[in-house]
Amino acid sequence: MEEWIIDKITEKNNKSREEILNLISQRKNQFPELTEDAILRMLATENGVIPIKRDYKIKEINQRINHVNLSAKIKRKFPPRTVTVKGREAKVMNFVVEDETGEMPVVTWNENYIDKIMSSKDGEKISIANAYSKENPFNGIIELNLGSGSAISINSTVTKQKEETKIEYKKIKEIKDGETADINGFITRLFSEDIYLIRCNICKKKVDVECDIHKDKALSKTLRIRGIFDDGIYSSSITFFDKQADSLLNLSQNQDIKEKLNDISFGLYQLNINAKMNKFNDNYSLTARKVTKTGYNLS
Ligand SMILES: [Zn+2]
Repeated sequence: MEEWIIDKITEKNNKSREEILNLISQRKNQFPELTEDAILRMLATENGVIPIKRDYKIKEINQRINHVNLSAKIKRKFPPRTVTVKGREAKVMNFVVEDETGEMPVVTWNENYIDKIMSSKDGEKISIANAYSKENPFNGIIELNLGSGSAISINSTVTKQKEETKIEYKKIKEIKDGETADINGFITRLFSEDIYLIRCNICKKKVDVECDIHKDKALSKTLRIRGIFDDGIYSSSITFFDKQADSLLNLSQNQDIKEKLNDISFGLYQLNINAKMNKFNDNYSLTARKVTKTGYNLS
């Protein structure tokens, strides 16, 4: 079973692992034809957890999974072999990747990837997008397969087969009011004024410096960073609150917050952002939900 889904439900709904496992076995009695995984996905949806995961650690890839993104290191390469499949010659290559959770074999039949990997050095970083994992029928070991819809990037050099099969990024213009979508692009500007949202927790109101009534008794200070995000075609204002603001600031190695903001303001950082859109007439305003730095060059 996909443990991460159980973790997500646990996190979100304060249910214990045991409760979830109990629910699964109850449902199993009700719907004996469903697999435990299917039931788990059903429970996830019922509990407001979207059971789609794309970024994995090696340890989590322990069964057949269709869309796997993985960041790892190339550990070992085996020379490509030529084999005959259905009367035709084809090249296949195996290599091993590792991350902090373990190592796993990868197999590819794609000549571009074979060349790319052969010219890499052991220990180099590799980002794999949209691979799939399955059991090798000969030894029972789970392997990662790079198919024609996958993309790999070694040390930020990019090889792509098919762009459209990767994570579906929306263009800012396509996002509807109220919709949450994944976007990819650059921060082209950050505003360094007013980066804290100050509230009086007794009045539950936004205040400037302190509350007129309660002074500084119950003030809370939250990061709120505003800027401009550009997807290459269109740009929109974007706001990063709290944790998202933190992940944004963490992109810069600088210690000082103003320096960090300055650093990130010049479009140097290509980001994947999951954001919610609010449209007022022609004003686009995004609120970041998740911020990830990307190694891919999608331009
Ligand atoms: Zn107050």
